[in-house]
Amino acid sequence: MHRFDERFLHVDMDAFFVEVERLRNPRLIDVPVIVGGLGRRGVVASASYEARELGVHSAMPIGEARRLCPNGRFVPPDHGSYLKASERAFALFRSFTPQVESLSVDEAFLDISGLRLHYATPLAVGEALRAEIRNRLGLPASVGIAAVKFVSKLASDSAKPNGLLLIDAGKERAFLHPMPVRRLWGVGEATHAALESLGVATIGDLAAIPEDILVKRLGPSLAAHLSHLAAGEDLREVEPGEGAKSISVEHTYDNDLQSSDEVARALLRLCTRLAGRLHRAGKAGHTLTLKVRYDDFATTTRSETLREPIAAGSAIWDESKVLLERAQIGRRGIRLLGVGVSGLVDAAAPQQLTLEPSSRTVAAETVEKVRKRFGDDSVLPASLIVDRPHKGRGE
Ligand SMILES: [Mg+2]
Repeated sequence: MHRFDERFLHVDMDAFFVEVERLRNPRLIDVPVIVGGLGRRGVVASASYEARELGVHSAMPIGEARRLCPNGRFVPPDHGSYLKASERAFALFRSFTPQVESLSVDEAFLDISGLRLHYATPLAVGEALRAEIRNRLGLPASVGIAAVKFVSKLASDSAKPNGLLLIDAGKERAFLHPMPVRRLWGVGEATHAALESLGVATIGDLAAIPEDILVKRLGPSLAAHLSHLAAGEDLREVEPGEGAKSISVEHTYDNDLQSSDEVARALLRLCTRLAGRLHRAGKAGHTLTLKVRYDDFATTTRSETLREPIAAGSAIWDESKVLLERAQIGRRGIRLLGVGVSGLVDAAAPQQLTLEPSSRTVAAETVEKVRKRFGDDSVLPASLIVDRPHKGRGE
């Protein structure tokens, strides 16, 4: 029997948001597609490989993407759909093994050692997983397999798009050493600059440098960490978790928010959107987080963990106002606001009995139905509606 030495599998969906959009709109197939905020300050959330060939990448300002890719199809993100697709993907991963560690909505590590009785080789597991993802979800994914955890992630990166790469146990260094050192975990911009000044360009260069020189430059813990990785060593195991860990919404404003009224209305709008997203996902969350980015790009977050999970817009709004006060905005302009909940539970899960009338839920569902038909902004709390007819008047 095969020894199954290569037991770490990293699976990563290709251009995930774009591919979910293509599932419901086939006209997006085979053309450059960019999913992202369409406002003046929007950024690219996901780009198809056709768009990447033209130089578009995620986190790029949308205006730049339009210049590089004038014939691209630009699509606003629909996170509710992506979350649903993500849950289907993770359910599929877990049908192979419960040993699944989620890295993001579309990416996970699997420890496949428990499958040795079911598959002839680790490669056969990877092929079966990719086939299932393709057949059952209709989505492309790339898979890397290795005997060392972080090597499996670099292998799936190298296999993209829509590929599979297994690095044989013992061959890790031959795979790693020609790669730019930047691809190692823990090599950010500052570390990269320090390594460059030592003449280190590739992972192989890093492996060849005496550790005491690295220690002098990077300190003992980072030096030891990077030396191990460069030697193809990584003792980390797969740590199974829960899948999607938070749901959040944020918005970058075309013009910085200045008055406290403007900020409050923007926040209320976000709370309403977040409630809609939670409702569609059937989730409630225990921890609420507020994110504020100021006009000078300084960013603050404030969180509160609540006794009962929240999902309703009114509850999210009440708690967000408290967090907003704690953020002490003062007179600074605000470029971005975000709210999110983590510690997710199923909204249908039994909760403590309260006297709250069930009509609340009925009302929420009605609102949700209207929104589905007419868009997210069709039903808003009353204080958001007033700013429309008066738009343009001084505030
Ligand atoms: Mg991906």
